[in-house]
Amino acid sequence: MGLFKPALQHPNWRKRMKAVERLTDEKILLQIAKEDADDAVAKAATAKVSTQKMLLEIVYHGYNLEAAFVAIERITSQEDLVDIAITLNYLVPSQIRHKDTNYKKANLAFKRLNVNNQNVMIRVAVKAKMDEIWMSAIKTITDEKILMWLAVEGKEDSKREAAIEMITDEKAIIQFARQRGYYTEHDITVITDQHILKEIAYASYELYYKKLAVKKLENQSILADIARNSKEGDLRTIAIEKLNDKNILAEIAERGDSAYDRSCAKSRWYYLVCNGKHDNEIIYEIDSDPDFYDSFGSYRTIGYECKKCGMRSSEVIHY
Ligand SMILES: [Zn+2]
Repeated sequence: MGLFKPALQHPNWRKRMKAVERLTDEKILLQIAKEDADDAVAKAATAKVSTQKMLLEIVYHGYNLEAAFVAIERITSQEDLVDIAITLNYLVPSQIRHKDTNYKKANLAFKRLNVNNQNVMIRVAVKAKMDEIWMSAIKTITDEKILMWLAVEGKEDSKREAAIEMITDEKAIIQFARQRGYYTEHDITVITDQHILKEIAYASYELYYKKLAVKKLENQSILADIARNSKEGDLRTIAIEKLNDKNILAEIAERGDSAYDRSCAKSRWYYLVCNGKHDNEIIYEIDSDPDFYDSFGSYRTIGYECKKCGMRSSEVIHY
C-alpha cells in the first residue's frame, strides 16, 4: 500500500489513473472506487474490483455516481438489483452531492431487472420507496388479480390509483370510480356501459371527459337524448354526428336548439340518405360578369341539387 500511496494521492488525475492501472490490491481499489473525486479514476477502479459484495459497497456507500453506474452494470444478481431498486430513497444525507443520485442508481438497477418476471415486478411495486420506481413496476404488471389487490391494499392513494390505471375489467373500474366519486380518463376508455357513459356525459365536472364519454356512445336513444337535451353545444354536435335515425335527425334539423345543431342534423341526414354519393343534377349555371372577373380570369358558378336527398351545393370553375 505504501508503495502506491503517493501516486494514488497525486493531484493530477492522470497520475492517479496510471496508479489504478497498476494496482491489484482490491481493498485499495474499492476505496478509490468509492472516494476518488474524478469520474474516470473511480470508474477504472470499479471496473477492476472482482466481487459482487464490493460492487454493492460502491453502489450503497460510494460518493461517485459514475462509479456506482459501472458497479450496477456489473452486478449479476437480480436479487441484488431488486434491493438497489427498492431500498434507495431520496433522503440519504451522506449522498446529498447529487439530489437525485439515488433515483438514478435505483432507476438503472430497475432497468436491469427482467420485466417479464412478474414476481420481481410485484415486489418492486409493493416495496420501492421512490414513486418513479414503483410506478414503472406497476406499469409492467399484467395480472389483473395482482393489480386488483394493489388497487385495494396499496398503502398510498397514488399507488392504488396507479394500479387502477392498469386494470381493464369494466365492472371493477366502475366500482372503483363509484368509491372515488368520479371517473378518470382511463375509466372512460375502459367503460362501454352506455348508461354509465350517459351519466358521465351529463354529470362529469369537465367537458373533456364528457366529450370522451359521448364519443363512446352507440345507443341511439341515449345519443338522441344528448342531441336534444345536453346544455353543451359540443356534446350535441358529437351526438348528432353519431345518430343513424333519419326521423330523429329530421326533427332536430327542423326544431334543434341552435342553427348549428340544425345544420349538423341536416348534413347528417343528407349523408345517411345518399351515403356521400349524391346523384347531383345542375340546377343553375352563372358566368362571371366579364367586367368583374377575378385574378384567375373568368369563372363560372354551377349549382347542384341531389335528385335523391335534395342536398344543394355549388362549385366555381375557372376557364
Ligand atoms: Zn343526396
